[in-house]
This record gives sequence, C-alpha cells and structure tokens, in this order.
Amino acid sequence: MALVVQKFGGSSVADPDRIRHVAKLVTREYDRGNQVVVVVSAMGKTTDKLLELAHQITDNPDPREIDMLISTGEQISIAMLAIAIQSMGYPAKSFTGPQVGIITDNAHRKAKIVHINDEKIRAELEKGRIVIVAGFQGMTMDNEITTLGRGGSDTTAVALAAALKADVCDIYTDVDGVYTADPRIVPNARKLERISYDEMLELASLGAKVLHSRSVEFAKNYNVPIHVRSSFVDVPGTMVVKEVKEMEDIVVSGVAYNRNEAKISILGVPDRPGIAAEVFGALGAKNIVVDMIIQNVGANGLNDISFTVSKEDLAQALEVAREVAQRIGAKDVVSDSKIAKVSVVGVGMKSHANVAGTMFRALAKNGINIEMISTSEIKISCVIREEDVDKAVQAIHEEFELSEAKNA
Ligand code: ASP
Ligand code: MG
Repeated sequence: MALVVQKFGGSSVADPDRIRHVAKLVTREYDRGNQVVVVVSAMGKTTDKLLELAHQITDNPDPREIDMLISTGEQISIAMLAIAIQSMGYPAKSFTGPQVGIITDNAHRKAKIVHINDEKIRAELEKGRIVIVAGFQGMTMDNEITTLGRGGSDTTAVALAAALKADVCDIYTDVDGVYTADPRIVPNARKLERISYDEMLELASLGAKVLHSRSVEFAKNYNVPIHVRSSFVDVPGTMVVKEVKEMEDIVVSGVAYNRNEAKISILGVPDRPGIAAEVFGALGAKNIVVDMIIQNVGANGLNDISFTVSKEDLAQALEVAREVAQRIGAKDVVSDSKIAKVSVVGVGMKSHANVAGTMFRALAKNGINIEMISTSEIKISCVIREEDVDKAVQAIHEEFELSEAKNA
C-alpha cells in the first residue's frame, strides 16, 4: 500500500462536471489499495473574483481580512469534492488547512508553512477515509487564518507529502507535463520524462508557470518525488526528482522566458567604493528583488549601472533609484519596460563547454541583440527586446535540437 498525495488546480475543479471527473481520478487511486490525501485549489477563477470583490471597496484592503476572504475559495472546492466522492459510495472527508494543523508564520498573503501536525490526517487515513485538504491556507500560532501566496496549493500538497512521507505527490494540472519550451511558442516542444529539482526551480522562477517555486524548494529539501500530470488526458507526465548523474548527459533541458521584467539604468555614477552597496541596499530595504546587474566602466571616472526588476516593482524601484542617484551625484536615471529574459537551463552545463556560445549564436543568426547576460552553474539568461521573445525561444530551441530526445 502506498500513500499518495494528489493535487488538483483551479481549472481541474472549475465546475461540478470537472469535480465529478476529479472524484473518479481520486477513487481510482483509492481502488488500487492506496491511502489518498487530496489537495484542491479554489474552483476556476474564484480567487481572482474574491480579490476583485475586495478591490471594489478599497485599493488597500487589510491583508488579514484578504486572507479571511480568499481562503473561502478552497473551502468551497473541498466540500464539493467530498460530496462528489461520497456520492460515488466512497468514504471521504474534507478539512480546511487549520483543521489539519497546517501552521504558518504571520505573514498574511505570503505565509510560510512552519509546521504540520499530521496526527489528524493519519487518524482519518487509518479509518480508511479519503482525506481532502484545502490548499493555499494555514493558521498562525495565534489561530489567525493565512494564505501562502498565489498558486500556493502546490506548496500545501508537497508540504503534506513531506510531512506524511508520501510515496509520490501527483500534481494534476491543465498541461500534461513539463516541456522543453512553452508549446504555445514552440509547437514541437517535447515533454520531459523527468527533470531535477534544481532545473525545475530555475524554470519556475524563470517564468515557466507549471509549479509554484516554493513547492519545488520544499520537494527538494524533503526529497518528495513530484509527478506533474494532466487531469484531462490520462498519459504519464513529468517526474520532478533528485538529480542523478545521468542527467548531466543532457546539456540543456529547456528554454524559459519571462516577459515580466524591466530595466533601470543609473548613468554617470561616480566610480568609488560603496556606491553599489548604497544603490542595492536602498532597493533591498524596500523589499525590491533585483535580478540581473551590469556595471559598465565609462569615461572620466564615471560608470553606468543597469539592473532588472519585475514590472510590478518598476515604479517603486525607479523612485528609489532617483533618490539614490541624487544623493551620490549620478547624472541620470532611465528605465525600459520593453525587455524580456530568455534562459536555457540544464544540469548538463556543469560538464559541457560552449553552451553560452550556442545560445548566443542562435540569437545572433536571428539578429536579436543581447542587452544583458547572467549565468549560474545550470543556467544562462539573456535580456533582449520584449518583441523578440517568441523568435528567440524558437531559435534557441532549434539550435540545441531540443525537439529530438537525445543524449549529447
Ligand atoms: N486559489 C489560489 C490561487 O488562485 C491558490 C492556488 O490556486 O494554488 O492562487
Ligand atoms: Mg496553480
């Protein structure tokens, strides 16, 4: 007997028909003799609608009350799923996050799970029940309801799988796995049989919206195998697992892109120690995450510093940059929100040379200019014009021959 955690996203439980279909996927697993814990998101676009409702009253609602409001979405879907499973004659019971002891810190709207009291779920499983848990929510030590950040149900599922030492965490979604590139841009993108946690983390944070980043971190820390699969078509998906040596035979696993980036340049910055600390210290103090940074050495002891932030943070980052620029005597601050980032990811880069050269060649052949570059052990990213994204992703995918399953 295995213990399986299954997670179904909003589109998989969007209406009663789909909920009935999910009930079949759940009971199928139960009929195999397994213990089943199910985590669900809110139905369809419920969370968006609830947020919109609050924003019809004020632009600045209290985060605690927002959590009170948006946590109700998942309470609807767990009850609906329990009703559907029971109507098929199976024992099922639904629970909110707080009811099954999901304890978080106090950060409303972006709370982190700090502990799970798993006795309640275990006791229900022992009684032979299918346990259904609301995703995305928890409770602080002072009994305050919290949510885990948009897309947080994935994290609930993986955290439960870790706490219960589940054999696998099945994440059912509207795509049937993780691809070598976004299939909407690259029609011949290939589904990956498996991918390492680190690669998945890079792809998630780079804008491939398959899994919530924090859920992958959790899975990596506790070594929970994740199976990303479709709730609509019954085919094997992609396994997200611990890195093994053979994975290094494959140079590049995938190409990701992120249009949600903007660039700020501080021009004519005096070349002296402490300037970078001042600029990025001020941004950090405002909780603005900076992605790439470039410093060009200019003439007359003056430098230009460019960096990227997410588009949502652009206005605030510009304000901070202007303030600092004035203080340090820089000449000017300019911004550009028409940029995007394309990246190649692969653990094989550790042992293969010239991955960067191949990527740059693909861009050059297509007349795409590279504005910034950054690298890590398993990824290379380039900032390019936003309008060039599709062409860039296609060109890089082609150059690395990612549509053909092959080893280097
Ligand atoms: N319902 C929440 C959201 O829409 C959580 C989730 O779907 O994972 O963000
Ligand atoms: Mg989701």
